[in-house]
Amino acid sequence: MPQIQQLPPSVVNKIAAGEVVERPASVVKELLENSVDAGASRIDVAIEKGGSEMIRVADNGCGIAVDELPLAVASHATSKIQSADDLFSVATLGFRGEALASIAEVSRLAIRSRRADSDSGGELEVVGGAAQAIAPVGCPVGTTIEVRNLFFNTPVRHKFLRSAQTEMGHSIEAVTRLALAHPQIHFTLAHNGRLVHDLPPVADIRGRIAAFFGDELAEDLIEIHSEGDGVRLTGFVANPMHSRATGRMQYLFLNGRAIRDRALQHALGEAYRGLLLTGRQPICFLCLELPAEMVDVNVHPTKQEVRFQDSGRLYSQLLGALRTKFLTTDLRARGASPGATGVASGDEVESSAAGTSELVAWAKEQLGKQVAEQDSAISARAVTAAQPNFSFEHSAANEPLRLHRIDVPAFRPFDIGRQPAQSPPAEPGADESNRQDSECTAPSRPLPASPDVLRAATITTNALQVHNRYLVVETDAGIEVIDQHALHERILYEQIRESVLAGALESQKLLVPEPVDLAASEAAAVLEHAELLLQLGVEVQPFGGETVLVSSYPAMLANLSPAEVLRELVEKLLCGGRRPEVRDLLDDMLHMIACKAAVKFGDRLNAEEIDALLAQRHLAQDQHHCPHGRPTALVFTREDLDRQFKRI
Ligand code: ADP
Ligand code: MG
Repeated sequence: MPQIQQLPPSVVNKIAAGEVVERPASVVKELLENSVDAGASRIDVAIEKGGSEMIRVADNGCGIAVDELPLAVASHATSKIQSADDLFSVATLGFRGEALASIAEVSRLAIRSRRADSDSGGELEVVGGAAQAIAPVGCPVGTTIEVRNLFFNTPVRHKFLRSAQTEMGHSIEAVTRLALAHPQIHFTLAHNGRLVHDLPPVADIRGRIAAFFGDELAEDLIEIHSEGDGVRLTGFVANPMHSRATGRMQYLFLNGRAIRDRALQHALGEAYRGLLLTGRQPICFLCLELPAEMVDVNVHPTKQEVRFQDSGRLYSQLLGALRTKFLTTDLRARGASPGATGVASGDEVESSAAGTSELVAWAKEQLGKQVAEQDSAISARAVTAAQPNFSFEHSAANEPLRLHRIDVPAFRPFDIGRQPAQSPPAEPGADESNRQDSECTAPSRPLPASPDVLRAATITTNALQVHNRYLVVETDAGIEVIDQHALHERILYEQIRESVLAGALESQKLLVPEPVDLAASEAAAVLEHAELLLQLGVEVQPFGGETVLVSSYPAMLANLSPAEVLRELVEKLLCGGRRPEVRDLLDDMLHMIACKAAVKFGDRLNAEEIDALLAQRHLAQDQHHCPHGRPTALVFTREDLDRQFKRI
């Protein structure tokens, strides 16, 4: 057994550095936090090669006294707390006094600073933890910290770094969080000498959301405001028409600090229950302000997780605030009109109904509590008035479908919807209107009806559509209940897959490449996987900032907008930890097309359409399961029925 010995400070610091400095983005985060704590009104961030070469953060904050520079980079040295008691009333972002020491341990760090009461500033360099002599310099009031060659002395860490693009994506995310939490500060961010963001101060977070995530999302935000017992909740949540496959876009700020909190995330999910498809996550930008003593921030090295004194109360406040707001908000998709609901699909019809009733039940319960104090007639009216306008009603729910919607025995993937860019549009403006259509409708139409198909469809089955979703068919053995969407999706999926496997994955060049606005990390992921996407026929190029230019994409996706396709794919790129495979992405893409092109759960079908759909059943190899694995049909044999009715 080796002897026990005290570790030398450099090893201790490297261990601490391991906790605090995981990648360049961690450095960006710590330096930004220090600048915010220093009261800066302007912070400029410059990054070279994803941060592995250089990260510089310059602020106009209070600065550091020249003789305190060595302390700033010493471990456990801080100006933010003095005693253990202070730990329970931390009002700054930092307090552990470890960040600069940790960063300096694994990089070449230079710090230049001047306080307002001093005529000149000082500069200190630290190389791999070894501080050099302080040199006097002339510099403006404030602090500039430059970190070069991160992990130069810890090769193992260096090896874990991903591409510059990916690392930059993480750094942009760090800036995004700080800039969202502090809209009153002017931030700029440059990468390799190119300005990525210039964010002048704004009154509220909405302007920042637009800058980072685009106007489309910013216009569909729902403002949240709730106050009580010293807790203030403000910010925005997105209309349920916007959602993500992961919780990445759930920004939660506690006293200016971005945090993750399972309980609050759960409350958010509860508030949106029934308003989103299963598996989709809401988007939020919420700021909590509460007295520092009501929360313990000293539970996590990077302070991303905190412990609340009364987590249950915050949970109910968040859930209550959101539900109350949803009840009085028109959650309809913007510009929704029959045939253009954007988010509608059969599944949502169902889920929104469930969501509505849950919300109304909750509202009744809440109002019930007030009945004792209030005139019951008034509260009864309030319940009615508060009925939300959940109109995820399906576009085609009341109008019969046209036959061509399921006219696909000879499914020609390249014929759907939008004209390929090479062929001239049928009439001026037709392309434009098609594009809008494909962006905001369930885009399955129009498929041209051919006489062959009509003939094929005249096989008469004794099928009956019930509840606009199931087909009941008499068979020799008994009866079968078919899920119309699941079956159609399966048929389309197999047909498209076949044409793709036969090498028909044609890519179509867009006449005018389409810019798509993404979140920073999404753009980074897309560009990092540009080659992989190219194999799928999706060609992307950087277009500055978070905008990516789509110059070609698979012809069979022509009825979906490039933005829609890219957003779906990016979710897949960002989801799994491992590198995505072309095959998986391709399969996802096929699912996406099949699902969007199939008749919906909730679509009314006429007799010919029912016949046409059933006539194609044999075209699916696995006609018993939809591509997601759900059954497409249930069988009840005659014996089953006879037995149920006690005939045998
Ligand atoms: P902490 O932020 O937890 O105190 P750091 O290691 O990040 O620890 O910083 C150590 C100290 O250096 C801070 O307490 C602060 O006094 C000083 N400091 C760091 N960065 C700045 C800055 N940009 N402006 C002014 N002071 C700073
Ligand atoms: Mg700090």
